[in-house]
Amino acid sequence: MPDSKTKYIFVTGGVTSSLGKGIISASLAKLLQSRGYSVTIQKLDPYINVDPGTLNPYEHGECYVTEDGAETDLDLGHYERFLDTKTSQANNVTTGKIYQHVINKEREGAYLGKTVQVIPHITDEIKRRIRLLGKTGNYDMVITEIGGTVGDIESLPYIEAVRQLKWDPEIDCIVIHLTLVPYLSTSGELKTKPTQHSVKQLSESGVQADILVLRTEYPIPEEVKHKVALFCNISKDAVIESTNVDTIYEVPLMMQKEQLDQVVLKKFDLPIEKEPDIDEWKGFLTRLNNPKQTIHVGLIGKYIELKDSYISIHESLIHAGTVNETEVIIRWIHSETITASNIEEELKDLDGILVAPGFGERGIEGKILAVKHARENRIPFLGICLGMQCAVIEFARNVLDIQDAHTTEIRRNTINPVIFLMEEQKAITNKGGTMRLGAYECKLADGSMVMNSYKKKLITERHRHRFEFNNKYLERYEEAGMIATGINPEGGMVEIVELIDHPWFVGVQFHPEYSSTVLNPHPLFIDFIAATTEGNK
Ligand code: GLN
Repeated sequence: MPDSKTKYIFVTGGVTSSLGKGIISASLAKLLQSRGYSVTIQKLDPYINVDPGTLNPYEHGECYVTEDGAETDLDLGHYERFLDTKTSQANNVTTGKIYQHVINKEREGAYLGKTVQVIPHITDEIKRRIRLLGKTGNYDMVITEIGGTVGDIESLPYIEAVRQLKWDPEIDCIVIHLTLVPYLSTSGELKTKPTQHSVKQLSESGVQADILVLRTEYPIPEEVKHKVALFCNISKDAVIESTNVDTIYEVPLMMQKEQLDQVVLKKFDLPIEKEPDIDEWKGFLTRLNNPKQTIHVGLIGKYIELKDSYISIHESLIHAGTVNETEVIIRWIHSETITASNIEEELKDLDGILVAPGFGERGIEGKILAVKHARENRIPFLGICLGMQCAVIEFARNVLDIQDAHTTEIRRNTINPVIFLMEEQKAITNKGGTMRLGAYECKLADGSMVMNSYKKKLITERHRHRFEFNNKYLERYEEAGMIATGINPEGGMVEIVELIDHPWFVGVQFHPEYSSTVLNPHPLFIDFIAATTEGNK
């Protein structure tokens, strides 16, 4: 199928990392989508890991999981939250994935005696992955964000692939380059030299930027924009400024004001008469900026030094807060620091407690203590994945009086493995990509708290874990008041537990945070926040 109707937009970055390419890409996509175009966004990551699943959250932030079970970069979470459309395996490609594919082909003899090289074999594979979305997804526009910074050794094959695509007569594409315009307080000036160098570096690789987005802490005067346009071979209207805003959700409106979408359409010779229809988005922002009350949620995790580790949970709480017209203030609490003697102090005055997902032993006892605190003090509680498993362990130890109850993730030979590895999974030893990953169905129990939230019987949620609730113990749990209200219809796994005698206590084996979007906040987060608010206490 030809992809000639699909327009390709490449987003590159220069000067420094962390300029917010993901948010700019998502914001542009939102504006184009609001004009009626079907748009998707893809992230190319220049590292050698095949996927970010094995990366430490401290280094790389959260690992985001798509419905089809890909462990991906957290930027895909932004894409889904902004666009309210699903991404897939094809939306995140790493250097590791590219090389793995090419090397496998080489072993199969696909290159027939040829020397396999970065150009053309690796660049061809990069180009194939870029065009795949245009071909299979039938999108009007594909935005491809290239990770890293121009000039990095790792990025070179990607920039080369972009250069080749720019010269391909079949492909209609443009390049948006993001740079930083720093402010020097000693001279009181905004400096454009780093931008000039970065654009030059890009053009040395044969790629001329079509649009520049300048990240800046202060508004950029018109004459400075003129200067940038002149030195960088860019038309003046294509020099866009992007100042700091209070929330990432303001960025689409800022980009609309800066006419980024119009400049893009002009470059593609597409009509621009209509304005994008983003009233719903503006409604969300109005609610976000005008809360009627404030509540405090404790987020108990062990990667809290880097907030990006829990970015989807953070955003889901914000989405749910707007539905409840409530400002949600998160208190980040390190599970390793929680002890029986300081818990009252650490968790003081919280309206809700959320125990986060995680792996390994570090900090788990602190999480279990936090669950106990929420259960005994009747504080609304949401436990996600490891958080749900901690709720199960806590209930066994303190209510069922099974003192040594544990998960076999941590005590391999525990006598009471209330969370364990199912038989089918025991054979798997390789850690990369061996979990229950992606979307699974879950059947909800009538009359349950969760049924009340979802308002339907069969739901689909995304998973990322190895261990499961051990059904051998289910009867004892249910008799004592912790009931399984969500079951996987195929394998019988317990996906949700809740407490009968508690205002709002829900543990989920899946990750609801991956599917909360601005226009469709997640029902569990909405009801968790609702339970924390004054009227519902
Ligand atoms: N470590 C747990 C498991 O593998 C939970 C994983 C998670 O919280 N995502 O089952």
